[in-house]
Parts: sequence; structure tokens; C-alpha cells
Amino acid sequence: MKSKILEAVDFVIKNNLVKGTWGNVSIKEGDLIYITPSGIPYDKLTKDDISVVDINGTHISGLKPSSELPTHIEIYKARKDVNAIVHTHPVFSTTVSLITSFIPPLVEDAVMILGPRINVSEYALPGTVKLAQNVVNALGENHAVILKNHGLITVGSDIREALTASLVCEKTAEIFLYALNIGNFSEINEGDAVMLRNKYLNSYRQIEKDVR
Ligand SMILES: [Zn+2]
Repeated sequence: MKSKILEAVDFVIKNNLVKGTWGNVSIKEGDLIYITPSGIPYDKLTKDDISVVDINGTHISGLKPSSELPTHIEIYKARKDVNAIVHTHPVFSTTVSLITSFIPPLVEDAVMILGPRINVSEYALPGTVKLAQNVVNALGENHAVILKNHGLITVGSDIREALTASLVCEKTAEIFLYALNIGNFSEINEGDAVMLRNKYLNSYRQIEKDVR
């Protein structure tokens, strides 16, 4: 699990989803959560630094966990299908968080992989239980939630799914901003969006997992 966290951090940096030490990644295995530590530059991170806590946040080993641990714990408690969480501060998703309360169903991959509508959570200070509650509420059954004036959280049944969701959300936020700038845009209607999402959850996603 620790090497998977390091690989995920590498992916996040290479894909320009975060700058410096901001952002955090966790993986749940059984009752244990493996999470990036607080305040260590990602390029200095080693396996031994990865923080291990139990599902209630009690520290077991490694360095002090990320200050966003409460949000990770509340998501794992609310969503039994989630085993990995990626929190980043990408430019386009964060920009969207400043101007709207959701991204409507615009493109098929986002609707399928993330959910019919990507919500922006209410603002709360970082590291607080209030932020954790706001994030869980806005996430619902989706795989992405944008944090108002802050950044992005994506989730997955494994780390690969959560990382893919981050890229898809950031790409969708970029498209949304271009469309808003140019003028009127068309949306996928709600019924079709729900159908696409269900099709992905019940068939495409299963096939993808089988070939992994
Ligand atoms: Zn953050």
C-alpha cells in the first residue's frame, strides 16, 4: 500500500494536479488508512513517512497524517464502496469552484466516471469536521466533488480509479470554462445522464476491473 501511495503522489505531480506539498492521497485496506503525511515535500517522501491510522484516526505508524484526515475518514465511513481518495488543487476545477455550485452534465466520460452532476461543496476551513461534512454531502454517490475556494476530491474503489477521476474532472472543468467563455452550451439531459452513469457503474466499470 505504501508504494501505491508513492506512485499516486508521483502521478499527481506529473499531471500538474498540485503544487508543492499541497494535496493528499489515501488508501483504505481493511480498517487501516494509509495517507500522505502533513507538510513533507512530495519529492522527499519515502515509504516510512507514509502515515498509517485506523478508521477512527488513531495514529499507528509513520509521520503525522495530513491535516485533511477528518475528510478522508468521513468519506470512508459514508461510502463503503470507496477504498482510495485523492485530494488536489488543480487550476480549472478550483476556478470552477469560485463561480458556480455545480458542473452540469456536459460530456459523456465525466457523466459516466464522475456522476451526472459534479457538485461544489459549501466552503469551510481546511482540516475541519465542517469541511468533512460539507464534502460528504456534496459528494453523494458521485466519484468527484469540487471544494469551494479550495480544490478537488475524487474517490475510487481503488487508487487507479480515483486518479483517473481527478484527470477527468479537471478536463471537464477546463471544457466548462471554455464553454462559459464562448457562450451558450448544450447539456446532456438528466435522464440520459443518469442512464449513462448507471451503464458505467453496472457494466463498463466491471469490464475495466476484470482486465486490470
Ligand atoms: Zn487542500
